[in-house]
Amino acid sequence: MDDCLTLIHPSIHPSILYRDAVAFEAMSLFSLTPERPPEAPWYRDGVRFACTRCGRCCRGDPGFVWVREIEIASIARCLKLDVAEFARTYLRKTRRDYALVEMANGDCVFWTPAGGCRIYEVRPVQCRTFPFWWEYMRSPRAWAEAARRCPGVNHGRLYLPQEIDHMVELTDF
Ligand code: SF4
Repeated sequence: MDDCLTLIHPSIHPSILYRDAVAFEAMSLFSLTPERPPEAPWYRDGVRFACTRCGRCCRGDPGFVWVREIEIASIARCLKLDVAEFARTYLRKTRRDYALVEMANGDCVFWTPAGGCRIYEVRPVQCRTFPFWWEYMRSPRAWAEAARRCPGVNHGRLYLPQEIDHMVELTDF
């Protein structure tokens, strides 16, 4: 090893060259096995959506509209109720969390035939982010199912992957 060092430069201490050689080897190793970029989602070019406020997603099939504490406070304020009163009238406590009460036919308690959603401005994140839920974004087939249920899917504004991913994360219930 000393011979090699002398060939490079006689004044360089062997330990320095050894250290640099180790560092170089480590760098080469990393460049040979770079971290794989995440695979682009099927919606890499974006998808279109514009809500027509038809209310189909607010009616019918029974389900859960989850509400978080911060949302409870703003919906109660919007309805001019205190939180306890609001909770008694409009919330059901499940083993997991709070959800909005449903009508016997499965309609959301805030949906009205005449005016649509009564709390539209302060509706929960789950409603705001529909149909950008994992359930519908996981595959083109799932998205086609969303289109079957919702007339706004594949129309209107183009949503790009970054904002879609953000909404999917927000509704990762
Ligand atoms: S079904 Fe679609 S278009 Fe109709 S209110 Fe729901 S999100 Fe809007």
